[in-house]
Amino acid sequence: MSLGPFLKSKRSILLWIAIISVVLSGFFYQKYRDLDKNYSIIPATGETPIYAADTIKWLTRHQHPDGYFVNNPDLFDEPSILNKESVRLSRYAVETLVKLGASEQINRSGIINFVLNNYQPPSNAIGNLKGFSALPNSEVNIRATMDSVIILEQLDALGTIDTEAVAQLILAYQNNDGGFWDPGYPEFGQQSTVKATSFAVRALHHMGKLNSQVVSDERQQRINQFIQNSWSEDTKTFAPFPGHPAISSYDAYRAWVSIHYLPINQQNRESIETMMHLDELIVSLNETFRTSDKVYSEEGHSERSSLKATYLVVAMLDKLNYLKAISVPEVVQFVKGYRDPSGGFSGDIYSVYSAVDILSHLSSTRMTKQLRIYQVLTYSAILIALLASLILLALHRRVESRKHSALVRRAQTDRLTGLHNREYLEQRHSTFKDNYSHLAFILLDVDHFKSINDNHGHLAGDEVLIELSALLSNNIRKTDTLARWGGEEFAILCPATEPGHAREFSEKLRALIEAHTFTPVDNLTCSFGVACAGKNETLRDLYIKADKALYQSKRDGRNKVTYL
Ligand code: GH3
Ligand code: MG
Ligand code: MG
Repeated sequence: MSLGPFLKSKRSILLWIAIISVVLSGFFYQKYRDLDKNYSIIPATGETPIYAADTIKWLTRHQHPDGYFVNNPDLFDEPSILNKESVRLSRYAVETLVKLGASEQINRSGIINFVLNNYQPPSNAIGNLKGFSALPNSEVNIRATMDSVIILEQLDALGTIDTEAVAQLILAYQNNDGGFWDPGYPEFGQQSTVKATSFAVRALHHMGKLNSQVVSDERQQRINQFIQNSWSEDTKTFAPFPGHPAISSYDAYRAWVSIHYLPINQQNRESIETMMHLDELIVSLNETFRTSDKVYSEEGHSERSSLKATYLVVAMLDKLNYLKAISVPEVVQFVKGYRDPSGGFSGDIYSVYSAVDILSHLSSTRMTKQLRIYQVLTYSAILIALLASLILLALHRRVESRKHSALVRRAQTDRLTGLHNREYLEQRHSTFKDNYSHLAFILLDVDHFKSINDNHGHLAGDEVLIELSALLSNNIRKTDTLARWGGEEFAILCPATEPGHAREFSEKLRALIEAHTFTPVDNLTCSFGVACAGKNETLRDLYIKADKALYQSKRDGRNKVTYL
């Protein structure tokens, strides 16, 4: 009983914990959802992005019936729509559609024919060299060759060309300084550039020709050397070619491409990081080329945030396992700004290509630290609420069962004497009767009790009953059950007791009562009736027999034991 208020307060504390945890879990989950919505545009590794269907639709709308891709589908009928950009745009579109798992939506034969139309030997051909131009009847160049080769590789159509002859053409443009030049960029003449070198390396890579049989280790070493020479100590980034001032953030990506795919560097990632001056490069990228939007620009210290520059930085840093150098939320916001209500990402095909690529490179950052914290907080709050509820339930059950057993005990207890009552005896009898062959029932009644009440008062009568109860309790066996049958009658149920023993036992009790001094009345006697249980006898049957015996004792002058 004294435990009640304590339990009650413990239960109310638990209830509050459960309620607060539920509220908190809802709050944390909302936070998680809000944040997750920001990142939902980033596809989880290996999964189709949510925007894929829209982007695929957008891109297929931009494929000319002849197979190549253009930026403005409204001008499909303009003869000038096919221009030297077409092969480049087609490469971006094809790569993006393949990445989004939509290669079967590409007009495959159309675009392969378009590319093969530009497959030819260079005008000054020596030996068996072949490459690609951007348009039929124009000069073969490395840039157009790289784009064409990538288109064919993406469509599993490299078998339509002589890749050996194309590889030899590309290698013909390597200078002694290790870099490549590209006739597609006449403004640089025959000067090696980091840009042309990166095109050459990618073209060889996509044809599977970047191996030491085709590109000797010595050639590869020279490429490494050229890239290292293009590092600018002044600006801590890469220049377009050695000795030239660094001007564009793009050249860092191009330098990385030039050395990343080389087989001699593949076994040793550290050598790539060293050649890239990675630590210094990251500082200069973030200090020189990062805009206040925390994305990147092409030119240094410019506020012109560029999707292309951002894409190149993200793609390179992802491959260098260094995405921690960028600010993912801002980059995602920036890319989202290009979302086109009509589907995909607005701007030109290059924007779509860049956006899709940035987002796929960010897959590994899909679960940000903040997002994970809110996830853990949500689960923890739910767990705490659950635990608190379970404990609460267990406590409630315990209290209820205690209340119940107290009620039962009270219902089976006599108020005055604290002895068991007839109900309890009933219950004991039903368990005993199947387990014992001999069961004795002793009924005893106080002699002339009425006169005690009359002479000493009812309260004294009560006291006598209480004292008698104590005397009897202290003198029965552990296995016996003593109960107040009613008024001044008591009953003792004795399992495993033969009639003779029951009589002896009753005699002993009778003598004990006779000898005892009761506080208010001095002496007192009781009459006994003993009965033994036959087969299938109820307690009532036993009582009737014992009562008959008791009546006999009374008739025989009281203070007697009778067994019938
Ligand atoms: P006998 O020897 O024939 O049993 O005579 P008796 O007076 O004991 O028998 P009777 O049945 O005439 O009287 C029993 C009395 O016991 C009557 C009743 O008032 C009294 N009694 C019954 N229950 C209680 C009780 O709880 N307290 C008190 N003080 N008296 C009780
Ligand atoms: Mg009596
Ligand atoms: Mg009586």
